[in-house]
Amino acid sequence: MSVARFMQLCLSHPEHGYYLTRDPLGAAGDFITAPEISQMFGEMIGIWVAEVAARIGPFALVELGPGRGTLMADVLRVTKRLGHSPEVWFVETSPTLRAAQAVNVPQATWANNLAEVPDGPMILLANEFFDALPVRQFLRAGDGWRERVVGVDNNGLSWGLSAALPGRDAAIEGAWREQSPAAETVLDEIARRLATTASATLVIDYGYTRLDRPSGPTVQAMRAHAPADPLSGPGHCDLTWLLDFDAMAQALPGAAVTNQGAFLARMGIGTRAAQLAEARPKEVDALADALERLTAPDQMGHLFKVLGAASPGLGPLPGIGD
Ligand code: SAH
Repeated sequence: MSVARFMQLCLSHPEHGYYLTRDPLGAAGDFITAPEISQMFGEMIGIWVAEVAARIGPFALVELGPGRGTLMADVLRVTKRLGHSPEVWFVETSPTLRAAQAVNVPQATWANNLAEVPDGPMILLANEFFDALPVRQFLRAGDGWRERVVGVDNNGLSWGLSAALPGRDAAIEGAWREQSPAAETVLDEIARRLATTASATLVIDYGYTRLDRPSGPTVQAMRAHAPADPLSGPGHCDLTWLLDFDAMAQALPGAAVTNQGAFLARMGIGTRAAQLAEARPKEVDALADALERLTAPDQMGHLFKVLGAASPGLGPLPGIGD
């Protein structure tokens, strides 16, 4: 089967799928995400949402793959203080995580995919959502492109390559390409909404641009906070890939990309950290540590990218591309 089919089964199988059988976040889980590191992450996004909302008028706040709902709870605390009370929509397929989200954001409405969310002005957020969607991988080998597949041999699961696919191009031997039809479907739906109603989107994820593009395939597995073999324990590890932010920006007209460290700095995370440290002297070290993890180039500051896109005429977006 293709790597995309393998990922889809591992992550989303109704009975055995990784996301459907557990809450993977936090110390007892397999990985930790920016909103779970510190409230400061969501607060900076709350400021972003409020600034953009001032240009849009009444809007729905939509989040794709909200995890435990931590990011949304932090965002709503800030937007409320700044005078906004949007309707909240969560796009989430996992019943376990929907239950956690309902505790943190009881007023939310749930949908299984973005197409189910009613049309209208929206601000859409997605943190570490796209990297969980299935991706196809292709290697330029010998007489053309071959798709990477997962099969079974005497020792269990193993990687393989399909027969050469029709069509040749100028790519060099050994080049890799990744393509996610599932991600493209969501991006097309976002682009349609940006083109039709005053809306904006903020996508944050692991990924690269032409400046730091990796040369090999990017699918990786995480289990208990350590890298794992993606073929070990299907349904028991998180599987992700690195997003091509240049390709994403092409799918969303007018999009701009920066890295997470620069974005958070421009939104004022340094000032917020100092403020919190003054109010909670016992947490000074923990706050400094969280700030470092979220922004330092050798931690999440560089590998995580932020893409902003908006309907035509909404102007440059705060924190991005200025
Ligand atoms: N944004 C959260 C969680 C990231 S984990 C955070 O930053 O902490 C990925 C999230 O996407 C989980 O909530 C998972 O259940 C959800 N998810 C994965 N595939 C999905 C799909 N196809 N449709 C909707 N949600 C999905």
